[in-house]
Amino acid sequence: MKVDGKVAIVTGGGGGIGGALAARLVAEGARVVVADIDADAARSVVDEIGTTSAIAVGADVSDSDEIRGLVERAEEEFGPVDLYFANAGITGPPGLDIGESAWDQALDVNLRAHIRAANLMVPGWVDRGEGYFVGTASAAGLLTQIGSAAYSVTKHAAVGFAEWLSVTYGDQGVRVSCLCPMGVNTPLLYAGKNSDTELGALATRAVTGAGAVLEPDDVAEIVLRALEEEHFLILPHPEVLEMYRHKGADYDR
Ligand code: NAD
Repeated sequence: MKVDGKVAIVTGGGGGIGGALAARLVAEGARVVVADIDADAARSVVDEIGTTSAIAVGADVSDSDEIRGLVERAEEEFGPVDLYFANAGITGPPGLDIGESAWDQALDVNLRAHIRAANLMVPGWVDRGEGYFVGTASAAGLLTQIGSAAYSVTKHAAVGFAEWLSVTYGDQGVRVSCLCPMGVNTPLLYAGKNSDTELGALATRAVTGAGAVLEPDDVAEIVLRALEEEHFLILPHPEVLEMYRHKGADYDR
């Protein structure tokens, strides 16, 4: 899909990957709703982009009513939404015994928000014969990751959901990608799941020490190129690993 003239929602847009994605989408001619639970952060991103093609909306994607309100706001401002980036994510505390509410929070933000957004978007996309859903999962959704069980479980489920969406609606014009970065230089990389335990800290050092950290702009570049590909896409794919290699990572060890 060419993004020029299209309308996009980016959740978690006040942060690293989402902020870079929003800026890149606007640069390619899209009109973008930058949504974040931190409304000030979303506004800062929009101010930095500095055009009327982007607006900031404060929205907590763990709440289904707020997701609905976000979509309605985007439609009022720019018309029907063509691309939805379910990008907001949280790590959750490390370990298993984290309590019901921490499990619920991770499930709500990292998984249910994807399901709820798709539920709102897909019928219209099927009617129009076009639409694009991009779920941000993680390499932790493809590989076993030490640290936060909640992160690993919810990210695996987000990959599964994107695959299901793709095979179910792919022949009706709905395109789906699932973004699975490994290490991106944002606050989340250094957050609780990794730094609070000895093993978690070791895992972070393994990624960062190998030089395997991309900048958010690198990820936005990969995503924008991937949007023009035809098929369901999971990252890291060879091109992404190649980018990490350029940054000095050694995967042959
Ligand atoms: P980040 O912390 O910079 O950005 C995440 C953003 O999501 C923040 O602006 C935060 O305010 C927002 N957010 C959190 N909870 C929210 C909620 N309930 N509703 C709306 N917004 C909410 O981190 P990032 O690295 O840019 O993360 C973006 C996505 O990339 C996440 O889904 C994350 O799991 C995924 N990811 C990141 C890495 C990495 O190394 N940074 C690796 C793999 C996957």
